[in-house]
Amino acid sequence: SNSLLWFRRDLRAFDHAALHRALTSSNCVHCVFVYDSDILDPLPRDDRRVRFIHASLASLDAELRRLGGYLIVRQGRPLEVIPSLAAELACDAVWVCADYEPDAVERDARMAALLAAQGRKFLSVKDQVVFDSGEVLTLAGGPFSVFTPYKKAWLKRLAAQPEALAAYPVDAHADAFAAPAGPARLPTLAQLGFAEGPLPAAAGMEGAADLFERFLARLPDYGRARDFPAEDASSRLSVHLRFGTTSVRHLVRSARELQDSGAGGSGATVWLSELVWREFYMMILARHPQVVARAFKPAFDTLAWDEGAAADALFAAWCEGRTGYPLVDAGMAQLNHTGFMHNRLRMVTASFLTKDLGIDWRRGERYFALKLNDYELASNNGGWQWAASTGCDAQPWFRIFNPVTQSQRFDAQGDFIREWVPALARLGAKEIHAPWLLAPALLAERAVVLGRDYPLPVVEHDAARRRTLERFGRLKKTQ
Ligand code: FAD
Repeated sequence: SNSLLWFRRDLRAFDHAALHRALTSSNCVHCVFVYDSDILDPLPRDDRRVRFIHASLASLDAELRRLGGYLIVRQGRPLEVIPSLAAELACDAVWVCADYEPDAVERDARMAALLAAQGRKFLSVKDQVVFDSGEVLTLAGGPFSVFTPYKKAWLKRLAAQPEALAAYPVDAHADAFAAPAGPARLPTLAQLGFAEGPLPAAAGMEGAADLFERFLARLPDYGRARDFPAEDASSRLSVHLRFGTTSVRHLVRSARELQDSGAGGSGATVWLSELVWREFYMMILARHPQVVARAFKPAFDTLAWDEGAAADALFAAWCEGRTGYPLVDAGMAQLNHTGFMHNRLRMVTASFLTKDLGIDWRRGERYFALKLNDYELASNNGGWQWAASTGCDAQPWFRIFNPVTQSQRFDAQGDFIREWVPALARLGAKEIHAPWLLAPALLAERAVVLGRDYPLPVVEHDAARRRTLERFGRLKKTQ
């Protein structure tokens, strides 16, 4: 029997659940990736993520060829391309790794129906997560809505079912790959209509493996260092997890080995917990797809966010990193220049937009979606709703980040700010967090003119904080 493996966000040829299953259940496996024109057409031509996918496909094709197979790459609408390719190659089944985003779920349901009408099977298997939204449940059998008990249940399930981390080998079953008809002919970026340019990270399976290897050396200190944006503490694997150039089972296995051997220090435990956050938000999105457009807590859907020309001007200042709050502006500059933002700064900038500027979290969420290399609907939506206090966190809405104390605490020396806001590079560690409070003589000495070299604050934090307390307070009263 022939099968078609349709790669989507699982761009690797090792520890791959669907590929393993296809190879072990058919005689001849063809592999395809489709550049989905409905997703690509609206993107800016200079998109780092498309470049990352493009480079990762070259590495995937090379690895498949090393194993005796090859990758077919098409451009178009998957709902048209896949059924016609399956017919052309006489495949009885199309295999995929399950995707839990609402649009993907809908597309896959339509695909299954189209293929069924042709007499073919559509086989979707879990791969993107260790446990999907139906596997970690409360005692009453429902989904969790708070992270800590979810994490406890997740870890308990893993202890009871260690085979959830079993690898799905590919190379041992490589004789079932369909052999290539000729040399590689993948489309160039120009043929796809996209610009060449820098990659967000070394792409492909080798890029992920290299990052992970280097991260393991830093892992023991991760628990302490992860909150400080000036330190190179986190793994930077998010873009690889997004596009599946690494396997989450492989990452969890390695973290647990280090945890068990004691070599990972407390870092391994903290890092594992971040991977569980990823699955928590994927579960929330799968179980509550309405969060894409609405507050997780319906009571917060009627919050009256600021709108109009003044709010638009503040939003533009936030996007462009000109709020006058150095740590916020440094985070936005990192995002705008690299497509990455440190987790602490995602929290600080999201809190600033919603709680200091009074702007709807959905606007910030959309901006991040446009810019982030690792953009993941579930984590981005979860992170934004967490920051806006409309989501499923245990933190009450009246706890509001202070952008100056966050800066003093998490960038105490000002190193991160100096890197991303060069206008403030001459300010010292004590001066850089709130330059508008400095004496004019000191500013003159440092050759910084506020309002010219660097903006004055667009809002005053204490007043903004009071407005936010009122905004949320009004809501409570009307409940
Ligand atoms: P590490 O610290 O090395 O963590 C390892 C992995 O765990 C990450 O790669 C990621 O897959 C996962 N992870 C870590 N923190 C979180 C978290 N809080 N929620 C969910 N998963 C997590 N992450 C994304 O992958 N895509 C997004 O679009 C995204 N948007 C966010 C928006 C906001 C407002 C906030 C507060 C957080 C967002 N995050 C998002 C989570 C987090 O900031 C990034 O995963 C992390 O910064 C990526 O860096 P890293 O790979 O070095 O992480």
